[in-house]
Amino acid sequence: MSTSSGIIPDPLSPSFRETVILETLDGYEFEKLCARIFQKLGYGTVDVMPYSGDGGRDLLIHSTEGLVVVECKHQPHTGIGRPVVQKLHSAVISSNAIKGILVTSGKFSPQAVEHANTLSPKIELVDKKILTDLATRSGIELILEGKSHTVLRYPLSEDDAMKNKISSFIDRKIESNPAKSSDIVKISQRQVSFIPSYMIQYNINSTFETSVGVIHRECLEDGIFLIDGNSGALLKQELANHLNSAPLAVYNESDFSNIQFSRSDFVIDDRSLTNIAKKIIIDRHTKNVSYSARQKNQHYSKVCIPSEKDLFISNIKQVYLSFQDIKFDILKKDYEMRGVENAQKFLSYTEMMKGRICGSYINNNGILCNSCGALVHGHRLLDSHGFKCSQCGKTLCRECTYDLGLNNKVCKDCAEKSGKPVKPVPKNMNQRYIVGGGCLMVGVAGIFLNYLLCVIFLLVGIGILASDYRSRAPPFEII
Ligand SMILES: [Zn+2]
Ligand SMILES: [Zn+2]
Ligand SMILES: [Zn+2]
Repeated sequence: MSTSSGIIPDPLSPSFRETVILETLDGYEFEKLCARIFQKLGYGTVDVMPYSGDGGRDLLIHSTEGLVVVECKHQPHTGIGRPVVQKLHSAVISSNAIKGILVTSGKFSPQAVEHANTLSPKIELVDKKILTDLATRSGIELILEGKSHTVLRYPLSEDDAMKNKISSFIDRKIESNPAKSSDIVKISQRQVSFIPSYMIQYNINSTFETSVGVIHRECLEDGIFLIDGNSGALLKQELANHLNSAPLAVYNESDFSNIQFSRSDFVIDDRSLTNIAKKIIIDRHTKNVSYSARQKNQHYSKVCIPSEKDLFISNIKQVYLSFQDIKFDILKKDYEMRGVENAQKFLSYTEMMKGRICGSYINNNGILCNSCGALVHGHRLLDSHGFKCSQCGKTLCRECTYDLGLNNKVCKDCAEKSGKPVKPVPKNMNQRYIVGGGCLMVGVAGIFLNYLLCVIFLLVGIGILASDYRSRAPPFEII
């Protein structure tokens, strides 16, 4: 499964289609949905009127031919009768519009249809079926509550492509000689867990006013997050960011005949899902705002909580996260990764770049031992964990390095060839702490003796200890 770049995205492909659960929308959200559909289909610029007291004019479309008045009725279970058509027709005439469109998420009564056919200016009737067609053409999939969503999944690359991701990541951080890591990384096991999730996209536009005027605006287009499809918990934002533009495929179990996988079920119903999503959006856009009143020189603070009317969930996708456990080996050493991939990269929650000698994280300047396959810290000022053979250039971990004396480090083969007595490289695990801590103590003591000397020692001590602190593992790696 691959997607080539340069191809214009197909609005009907699962990745680009928006999904809206029709029956969980309230009346105002339904108006905003209709506005989005007309806008996307190029009817013209669409204004959404304030929700209450719109006098039969929910949307105004400014088309090239003139004004179009739209009335939206979100009544999935009742028919729309003739009086609603009459009311819209009056609004069309009083607004000097060229026509009216009456949209319902249900059906029209035969009398309403008959009456609409006699009117001028024209009143177009859009019922659920026509609306669903219009929505599909605009790239929005309307689904009905209780009906199953199309279940999608995030990408899974072939083993070879995964191997290349791993080895090119290692190449960037690690020196390996003479073997190229692409030749020695071997995937031994790959297990996929399909974890249910919902990808939610939304817009928010909220303005907060007090007696002193507008104190805060909260606006965001295409906000995105992921919800666990089992517990309803908000998933980590780096996952949502990582998967934001990943190509999606329809989940189809027969595609996985040759991989090991497990799957858990979606358990949240549409209405709870919508409520959970709204609560998350409101929480993440609730801000504590400080402001002051100019005349009184008074300072206030106010918690600005967006109202549900200010947000619009534009997209709910039911997607399986493809969590992968990958075991691979480099020469004879075992490694593993757990995480999720998008088309380009793998987001890993395991610390693959943990130094195999000290256990702290390798930021850069690492060494891949070509004798045993260990990833270790390369040359450092104190306590190096990796070396290069001075004879043949082979990269080595400390365990596989021999010392010919006078700082002449070699590999086992070169040591044997030399015929000289060799000794192993000493283990100085705590050298950095001892030297760094010692410098700090001398620095503090030096305060009483010599100002310049004490500053130098303090800085050196802090530098050494900080360089160790820096090698804490990050919460995740992008591979
Ligand atoms: Zn190390
Ligand atoms: Zn080694
Ligand atoms: Zn050598």
